[in-house]
Amino acid sequence: MLVVDYDNGKWLTPEILPFGSLQLSPSTFALHYGQAIFEGMKAFKNPAGEAQLFRPLDNHKRLNLSAERMGMATIPEDIFMDGLSALIQLDKDWIPTKAGSALYIRPFMFATDDFVGVRPAKQFKFIIFTCPVNAYYPKPLRVKVEQKYVRAFDGGVGYAKAAGNYGISMLPTLEANNQGFDQIIWTDGKTHEYVEESGTMNVFFVMGDKIITPELDGTILAGITRSSCITLLRDKGYEVEERKVAVAELVQAAENGILTDAFGTGTAAIIAKIASFSHNNIEYKLPAPENREVSNWLYKTLYDMQTGNLPDPYHWIKNLNQPERS
Ligand SMILES: *Cc1c(COP(=O)(O)O)cnc(C)c1O
Repeated sequence: MLVVDYDNGKWLTPEILPFGSLQLSPSTFALHYGQAIFEGMKAFKNPAGEAQLFRPLDNHKRLNLSAERMGMATIPEDIFMDGLSALIQLDKDWIPTKAGSALYIRPFMFATDDFVGVRPAKQFKFIIFTCPVNAYYPKPLRVKVEQKYVRAFDGGVGYAKAAGNYGISMLPTLEANNQGFDQIIWTDGKTHEYVEESGTMNVFFVMGDKIITPELDGTILAGITRSSCITLLRDKGYEVEERKVAVAELVQAAENGILTDAFGTGTAAIIAKIASFSHNNIEYKLPAPENREVSNWLYKTLYDMQTGNLPDPYHWIKNLNQPERS
């Protein structure tokens, strides 16, 4: 694992250490006051057996956006990218090649001040570790439109990949699971009338000849998979709208039979199809997942690009065997 400490206003020398336990004081700041953020990304092998990453600079940018919002130190690009490259070079034999599998990469940062008392922390630890992950093909999800709990609110931390955003989602998700749902569709905090995200994924709906996804308004996490999907879809000629999506609009589209596809997007699953959504105890079923044109095409295109089986016209891939493009 890559480990870098921040102290006295600067980042110290990065080290690559064997994966192992950390020794922390019980008064470690992040454990009490929640200054903790993370990223999630994957490494793949291309057909030539070379390690490659997908849009790693976007993960770096987003980590710093999260750090800023949480009052934490930001990480210079060279520490993040050089550390990541060195670590993946070292770990590259752990990148699985079975269809759908990848080496999952978890960069994260937390406040390490050994101090009880509330003020922004001054010491941080940045770590990247990796682990091989199998293909993750979630079964098509039954989701519930959440009308009691809120994930994020205007002015809050919804756009940051803060650990606490996950902490607060556990109970609502558990309750939804107990009611027989796989996941929650989060709605806005003021009215619960507009869709925000699906669990820990961004969400897309295919309605008629348009593809719609909630706009990034500060309460939604700007997914890298989301952004990649929008680019791929627009370049294929689809009309993609980023705007508010009312639950009422989804209900009406489902009733009229024009809601033909719906799916979540995120690094882990890439695309997770939604089988049905429930609102006010009514379940609205979508067409059979096998025949979904948009979600099936997106999954295959993204996965084939990530594994080097399709050309990369967008320069999203960072091949660790090849010198930097200038
Ligand atoms: C990480 C995350 C996503 C997906 O982001 P990707 O960059 O596509 O992996 C979406 N929503 C939330 C809340 C997240 O934390």
